[in-house]
Amino acid sequence: MSKPQDGLADELKASARALGFELFGAIDPADVEALPDRPQREAGFEPRSIAVLLMPSFISRWQRGQAEVSGFYFISNKAHINTQAWIERLGERGIRAERLGTVRAKSAAARAGLGVVRRNTLLYAPEFGSFHTLQVVALSEAITFACVVDHNDYDVERLFDANECVGCARCAAACPTGALDGRGNINRDRCLRSHMMSGRETPVELRPLIGAKLMGCEACQWACPKQPDIPVRSFERDDTFNVERLLEPTRETLDALAERIGRNYARAARVSAQAALIAGNIGSREYLPALERLSESTDGTIRAHARWARDRIRFGPAKA
Ligand code: SF4
Ligand code: SF4
Repeated sequence: MSKPQDGLADELKASARALGFELFGAIDPADVEALPDRPQREAGFEPRSIAVLLMPSFISRWQRGQAEVSGFYFISNKAHINTQAWIERLGERGIRAERLGTVRAKSAAARAGLGVVRRNTLLYAPEFGSFHTLQVVALSEAITFACVVDHNDYDVERLFDANECVGCARCAAACPTGALDGRGNINRDRCLRSHMMSGRETPVELRPLIGAKLMGCEACQWACPKQPDIPVRSFERDDTFNVERLLEPTRETLDALAERIGRNYARAARVSAQAALIAGNIGSREYLPALERLSESTDGTIRAHARWARDRIRFGPAKA
């Protein structure tokens, strides 16, 4: 392990905090290397520490006719942008830094002492519960490690603090699809989030459960008694999230969406396909003309979702 520089951790923590990262921890790269991923390869240099940054999120509330996006995606976009700003500031300070996308962020955060992983598979931080987003950054300098764990003792299962969940299975019971087994495992094929804006057809039996969600499902988080008070933000009517506009998004709509939740989620075909499911679930006949057009789309996912939605609105849920 490299010798940490005195005071550097506090300096980096303060600069991260100024960018909205409320919690900051660091681990020895040797601990991360115990994972299958190799941060050295991804960073392009030999890291001497791995920083984990946590930005708190919020619960979003939406009005009818709006496509719903969980607060996480707004914060995740902000965290992505601010991490880049942090990396640039470190560069000016002579510290090399590179975001790591392949490291298991929840495990790294737990090892850095930021929180515990619970039975719904999420990391809980004391003040922010599971409503937050994590960023992992390789650093060329060694900083004090908040949580020193013998990496020979490393075992992902040990990070799952089962005692905290004893006698409770509310997350598994709250999941509308049965994706959680109540033992700390998630079946990603059943998790609604895995299907949203994936570009693939959502299985027919899961489509009604999507409701009006464009991105995000937090039922397993809302149900958890271990959550502290999480801020709630109500969204006023906003054309960016108007379902009719998202069915056939213009460049302007996609740009506005990208500004709020990131370019990665503002892809026309994916937005259109997800909006079709939302339209079918809301059930308003005003969506029918757009759904008719999308039913002839050359994109197979858009076509399948639009036909399902059109038939659901025309003939009712049972016949769709
Ligand atoms: S995100 Fe939704 S679908 Fe996925 S496990 Fe949680 S409650 Fe179930
Ligand atoms: S709902 Fe219960 S079992 Fe699930 S993570 Fe929260 S405390 Fe643990």
